[in-house]
Amino acid sequence: MQQIEQILPLLSTPKKIVITTHHKPDGDAIGSSLGLYHFLRQYGHFPTVVSPSEIPDFLQWMPGIETVLNFEAETKVSVRIIEDADLIFCLDFSRMDRVKLLEPHLRNSAKTRILIDHHLNPETEAFEYGICNPEKSSTCEMVYDYIKSFGREDVWTTDVMQCLYTGLVTDTGSFRFPATTASVHEMAADFKRRNFDHTIIYENVFENDKESRLRLLGFALNERMDIFPEHHLGIITLSKADLEKFKAITGDTEGIVNYPLTIESVKVSVLLIERKDEIKLSFRSKGSIDVSAFARKHFNGGGHFNAAGGSSKDNMENTVAALKSLIFNGLI
Ligand code: 5GP
Ligand code: MN
Repeated sequence: MQQIEQILPLLSTPKKIVITTHHKPDGDAIGSSLGLYHFLRQYGHFPTVVSPSEIPDFLQWMPGIETVLNFEAETKVSVRIIEDADLIFCLDFSRMDRVKLLEPHLRNSAKTRILIDHHLNPETEAFEYGICNPEKSSTCEMVYDYIKSFGREDVWTTDVMQCLYTGLVTDTGSFRFPATTASVHEMAADFKRRNFDHTIIYENVFENDKESRLRLLGFALNERMDIFPEHHLGIITLSKADLEKFKAITGDTEGIVNYPLTIESVKVSVLLIERKDEIKLSFRSKGSIDVSAFARKHFNGGGHFNAAGGSSKDNMENTVAALKSLIFNGLI
């Protein structure tokens, strides 16, 4: 993978550009994709954001969201646009299996792939150019750095800032997680000096839910959470039937995994969700416990030191039993 600065000549004339991100995109995935989209348009390029799957409701307010293609629902047109593109930006993921059904189309494409990401263990051989820095808070912060490197003052439109601020806030847990460095606050300060209104982002992202989502959270904490203080562990399980009962839609389970960590004895929290053909696991930890390595080793996953994910093809009961046995035996 060559350095990202070297793609500058490729951008000297208008290009057809696909921007894509990971399956089940979150605030950082869509924020960085649309932030880059609004920036590239100002440079006369023709970008299209292709998401591997649907966009959660809490991001539907974002400027430009109506242009985003959902690969699962709009496969034909997405494939045509990918085949027609000159360049493909890959944001907020660095292993090809994170894009699910889109993977063969990305892998087999002869187009130049450019990576911007902050996850551990990138598959660097799959990208021609790029940057992967696990010390960065968010891909949005990296896109901010990238745009800044062009040295232009007129590109910081409200659209660009709203998109990039969204990922900065969501991936740092509202400026709370250890990855909240001085550069994170400097980026936020830079936006404030450009008259950016951050309250709109909080209202749109955190105060725009359906009642059913809050009730699902209450149910998950009251009925589906097990705490094992002696093992510093909290587990929440949500079955398909639970999700159906609360009419849960994509994005409704976002953030639930953080709650067990608010208990003093808990250092590791795991949320297990029964999906169509797998159990999806979300891991969060406090301090020096590396859940990324654990997810990679035991659940075919990965992510960040304190926030990671993985999956299991076994049923819920067996997956929980395996998880408990691994953690109770001190393997985390
Ligand atoms: P979440 O629990 O919010 O879905 O994911 C936490 C972090 O782990 C995110 O940065 C996400 O990109 C990453 N992650 C989630 N699932 C997987 C997975 O199956 N494989 C890998 N490599 N990373 C994952
Ligand atoms: Mn991210």
